[in-house]
Amino acid sequence: MAKLRSRLAREYRTLERMVAIFCGDHHGGPADQACDECVQFLAYAEQRLLKCPYGQEKPTCAKCPVHCYKPMQREQARIVMRYAGPRMVLRYPFLSLMHFLDKLRKVEHPMELRRRRKTAGQTPRDTA
Ligand code: SF4
Repeated sequence: MAKLRSRLAREYRTLERMVAIFCGDHHGGPADQACDECVQFLAYAEQRLLKCPYGQEKPTCAKCPVHCYKPMQREQARIVMRYAGPRMVLRYPFLSLMHFLDKLRKVEHPMELRRRRKTAGQTPRDTA
């Protein structure tokens, strides 16, 4: 299976830390081990990242016009982020700052992006 790299790998690391904070405070397991439900959620999120049409130019999912998550997982992501987001600032300031900067990215529709990549002679693989 393809591996996440660069910005997408960082995004996954950020989500992993957020889930760890949320799960540790809500699901009562060991601090370094997420519960089954949270592990499944992370596996789902990883799949979404691998298939994200934006590749390395991915906006934050919250601002995405596609939103590829199923409703249940989307709600799960919203709950986790609302809780863990403010706590990330102190615990993981670098990841938190980078996520903030990602929020400032201009969000294009995937069709617009595809057109721009085609004009530049790029394939989706070039930016995955
Ligand atoms: S919600 Fe949008 S940005 Fe997030 S993974 Fe899905 S397509 Fe990519």
